[in-house]
Amino acid sequence: MGYASCILHPYLQVLNLRRDVKPARPHVGHGWTAFVLAVGLWGMGVPVPRPPVAGTDRWTQRTWVVMGTYLTVRVRHPDSAYAERILDGVIDLVQDLDRRLTLYDPSSELWALNRQAGGPPLPVSEPLWDLLERALAYSRETQGAFDVTIGPIVQTWGFLEGPRRVPSDEAIARARARVGYTKVELDSSRRTVRLTTPGMVLDFGGIAKGYALDRAVELLRQAGLRDALLNFGGEIYAMGTPDGGDRPWTLAVRHPRRPDRVWRELPVRDMAVSTSGDYERFFFQGGRRYSHILSPWTGRPVETDVVSVTVVAPSATEADALSTALFVMGPERAQALVGADRCRYVLWIRQQGRHLIEDPRSVWPPRPCPSQGSRPSRTPKPNNPSSDIRPQ
Ligand code: AMP
Ligand code: MG
Repeated sequence: MGYASCILHPYLQVLNLRRDVKPARPHVGHGWTAFVLAVGLWGMGVPVPRPPVAGTDRWTQRTWVVMGTYLTVRVRHPDSAYAERILDGVIDLVQDLDRRLTLYDPSSELWALNRQAGGPPLPVSEPLWDLLERALAYSRETQGAFDVTIGPIVQTWGFLEGPRRVPSDEAIARARARVGYTKVELDSSRRTVRLTTPGMVLDFGGIAKGYALDRAVELLRQAGLRDALLNFGGEIYAMGTPDGGDRPWTLAVRHPRRPDRVWRELPVRDMAVSTSGDYERFFFQGGRRYSHILSPWTGRPVETDVVSVTVVAPSATEADALSTALFVMGPERAQALVGADRCRYVLWIRQQGRHLIEDPRSVWPPRPCPSQGSRPSRTPKPNNPSSDIRPQ
C-alpha cells in the first residue's frame, strides 16, 4: 500500500485527554491472534461483554507502529486486564489487515492480486473484498476522484518506493493507461476479483487506515466498550465521551504550516475525523511542491490552492476516502458530496497569497448526527450495486 515509509506527523490532536492513563508503550509484536478470531470480526463468535461501570474512569492505552505510522488506542473499562486483552485483539486485527494489504511485501494478498493483473480472476479474503467494494463505491460517488487503482501513477512519481521525481510525459501516459476503477471486475457469487489490464496496481493508501479504524471500533463495541479514542497517524475515531458523561471529545485541527498551533477545535462523539493535505508527503523539484495525492485524470499531483481538507463523518472509512477525494475535487465540485443532512462535515484551508484562509464552502462546525452512537461504525454497504462489475 502507499503507506508512508516514515512516521507521519498527525494533523489532529486531542485536547481533553486526562492524565490517569497507563503510559503508552510502543508494541510491535504479534500474539493473541486466537483472541482476535474469538472476538467475532471474522464470524467466529463473540465473548461475553462486560459493560462499563457508569462513572468509572480507568483508562488503558497502547501505542503500536503499524502500516508505517503510529496507532494509539485508549479505552475506558474498570478491568484493565480485560482492556489489555481487547487491545491485543485490536493490534492483531490491524496487523492482519496490514499483512494482507501492504505493497511492501511480495507475500501479501494484495501483491498476489496485483501480480494477476491482465489474467484470470482471483478469489480474495473477506476483508480485502469488503474494502475493495467500499473503495469502488467511493470511486463511483466521487466520479473517479478517489481511485483505488491509482498505484501505477503513485509508482511513477516515486511515492511508493522512491526516488521521488517528475516523470516524463510518456511515463505518465503509460501509467494512466493502467489506471481506472472501471477496469476492476468483481464477481460476488464467487468472491473473485479480476484486474482487466496488465500492470494494474491497487493501492489502498487513501482508505486503509480508516477502514482498519472502523473494524477496530466494531471490535471494541462487540467487547462491550463504549468510550475510546483511536488515533491512526492522524485519522481519528472518537467513541463515546472522555468521562462516560455527556461532554464529547475535543479534538483540534492543527495549523497546516505551524504544527505547534491549533487551527480549530471540534467536539466529536462517535464520529471519525480525517485530514488530507499537501504537507503530509511531498517533494520539491525546480522550486515546485509536488504532493502525494494524485489526480487520476491528469496522472499528476493535484495542483490546487487547497492546503488541507478535513472531513468529519460517521465512519472512518468514509472520512478517509472522502478527504482524499475532496482534495482532488476541490471545494466547488465537492459541494454535492458533503452537507449536514448527510452527516458529512468539511473544513477547507486554502492558501491566499501569504495567508491561509478557511474557504466559505466549508460545512462546519460538525454537529451530532441523528442516529449517532447506535449507528454501525462502518457505513452500510453502498446503495449502488458494487458487485458483479464489468468494465465499461
Ligand atoms: P490520504 O493521506 O488518506 O489522503 O491518502 C493518500 C494516499 O492515497 C497516497 O499516498 C496514495 O497511496 C493514495 N492516493 C493518492 N491519490 C489518490 C487518489 N486520487 N485516489 C485514491 N488514492 C490515492
Ligand atoms: Mg484518505
